[in-house]
Amino acid sequence: MTLDPRAMRALPVARPARDPRPGLSGIEPSQLEAWFAARGEPVYRAQQVEDALWRGTAGSADELLTLPAGLRAAIDEAFRFDSLTSTELSQANGGLTEKALHQLSDGALVESVLMHYPAAPGRRERHTLCISSQAGCAVGCPFCATGELGFTRDLETAEIVDQVRHAARRLALDGRRLTNVVFMGMGEPLLNLDAVLGAVQALADPRRFGLGARHVTVSTSGVVPGIRRLTALGPQFTLAVSLHAARDALRDVLVPINRRWPVAEVVDAARGHAAATGRRISYEVTMIGGINDTDADADALVALLRGDHAHVNLIPMNPVAHTPWQASPMPVIERFARRLREAGISTTIRRNRGQEIGAACGQLAAERAGEPPAPTVARRRERIVRESAAALRGERSHEPTPTEVGE
Ligand code: SAH
Ligand code: SF4
Repeated sequence: MTLDPRAMRALPVARPARDPRPGLSGIEPSQLEAWFAARGEPVYRAQQVEDALWRGTAGSADELLTLPAGLRAAIDEAFRFDSLTSTELSQANGGLTEKALHQLSDGALVESVLMHYPAAPGRRERHTLCISSQAGCAVGCPFCATGELGFTRDLETAEIVDQVRHAARRLALDGRRLTNVVFMGMGEPLLNLDAVLGAVQALADPRRFGLGARHVTVSTSGVVPGIRRLTALGPQFTLAVSLHAARDALRDVLVPINRRWPVAEVVDAARGHAAATGRRISYEVTMIGGINDTDADADALVALLRGDHAHVNLIPMNPVAHTPWQASPMPVIERFARRLREAGISTTIRRNRGQEIGAACGQLAAERAGEPPAPTVARRRERIVRESAAALRGERSHEPTPTEVGE
């Protein structure tokens, strides 16, 4: 008997327990050295493991053939060499985009998306990986496939880093190297900040992954205390802020944590970040037809950002199930961009990539979860239409701030 996916979604799923062994890629080299020292092993053993972890092709401790078998078994007992238990790959866009659906030890699913940008005149080829920081997301933006899934759990540092190691190993098979990492996959990185910072450090450390800090972008929906914490740490990476609307009433609906940290506070924190680090802020606006793409929206954005050290990316919304919304037509996006540029705000339209970056993330996991029952979809659509109509009349939302967002 085949089960209807809608029925499967409603069934309580027995999930395996999480593997308690720490993931090796989330461990500082000094901690690993201490582990070997405690076992009376020479320090160079730790270096052998680090080399295999960051530069090798081994997928498990068993394959570390430079180490004696007893030591391999001890490593396997104490640590997870790879925290991704399985990965399914699929290609899109004529092979320029590779989507990976990773399963974690407890069965949770997360996605990463590898995008290849061929060399162009004056520009070297780039390979950018979009990674997830959480399984699901508590913020619940209505146009986002991950938001629709809800929150499952935070990822550990190793689970974040291993998405990058997986892509790097795949690229290495063709003699290519990963050039950029963006936290634009599933989850809100600043609501899992300790694990994300651990991952950023591992990625930037020349002894470990060795990717320059300038090649990492962290995208946030506007967690103000998180932005301020990052500012105190200095210029570790590029900060992208998902703005979507400059007016609170509409942003309350499009990015529900706006009810806790309103747009002026978010931009103020981002401005503070740009001033302290000297790094330009990227603002992302997902363009949704008839919702946030009018002249009044463009003018509100101009009023908010005029004179800032900022760049705006306009991304046509990638249609997702359970919303009645579509991307704004390209002429509307072009008109919006013109209004921003005329006010001196540097602006880019991300024409096709909208379907490949974060926009694509969450969709494989959502498909896997199956369609929710039709009445649920209908109720959800009705609520989105009602809330956005009220927002467009300028009324603030009375809905509570999403739970699990924290202080
Ligand atoms: N939670 C963080 C990072 C992950 S989302 C954040 O919101 O910034 C990464 C980006 O993908 C965000 O800018 C988000 O608004 C965008 N996005 C999500 N769903 C989309 C869709 N259906 N179409 C276009 N962009 C989308
Ligand atoms: Fe979460 Fe970002 Fe999706 Fe909003 S857009 S639900 S913050 S992942």
